[in-house]
Amino acid sequence: MNSRRAFALSCLAWLGACAQQGNGAEPADSFAAARNRMVDTQIAARGVDDPRVLAAMREVPRHRFVPPELQRKAYSDSPLPIGAGQTISQPYIVALMTELVRPRASDRALEVGTGSGYQAAVLSRLVRHVYTIELEETLGREADARLRELGYDNVTVRIGDGYAGWPEEAPFDVIVVTAAPDHVPQPLLDQLAPGGRLVVPVGPTYSVQELQLIEKDANGRLRTKRVAPVRFVPLRRTEAG
Ligand code: SAH
Repeated sequence: MNSRRAFALSCLAWLGACAQQGNGAEPADSFAAARNRMVDTQIAARGVDDPRVLAAMREVPRHRFVPPELQRKAYSDSPLPIGAGQTISQPYIVALMTELVRPRASDRALEVGTGSGYQAAVLSRLVRHVYTIELEETLGREADARLRELGYDNVTVRIGDGYAGWPEEAPFDVIVVTAAPDHVPQPLLDQLAPGGRLVVPVGPTYSVQELQLIEKDANGRLRTKRVAPVRFVPLRRTEAG
């Protein structure tokens, strides 16, 4: 407890300096120790062992994706509010979802629910290109600006309803849905490439959902694995949908 409090206090002392850092993507930022501890104690310790995923989680400066007043909590073992009633997921859940879709360097990935842009940034380290869709215009614009500033050039942000996917850029080898629908959207299944992997929390609004991994084989057949109970904000629908 004491060391945790001491850590929080020292982060507070750093905040001024951290906020002025030009390039948060530098691995040697002053939060690097906290980030490494996050990976060791929250992620690797719970069984995520893909070295590429662990490396991406050590690299992406999560504190740059949360509101300034929450930076000192950025590496804690929990989701955090990011505005507009939305949240950035718990670090372990981001790592787990990323590992589940087995990202490869040649893959094209779709994310539904850009939020802060953090999951997109992590994925962008592991695939060729990330297309990400956000319903909330303000969040989408902010995430886009943040990703540009941090140099994540292989991420494209679009404002819209991700239920419909992104047909112009389909098919996708990887699809990560970070808001919970009550059923798996058919357009996303259609836009999954043969051999593709889709991870999605499915279930009722503001309750416990089931994280599902859906794989499409070379013949287009789908196989669903139930992975874990999770709790995500709901995937909201536009009138048109
Ligand atoms: N992946 C994000 C966290 C996502 S929170 C991150 O790394 O920070 C879920 C996000 O999904 C919210 O920002 C919410 O506005 C968005 N969302 C909800 N319904 C959506 C929809 N139909 N299409 C696209 N985005 C949606």
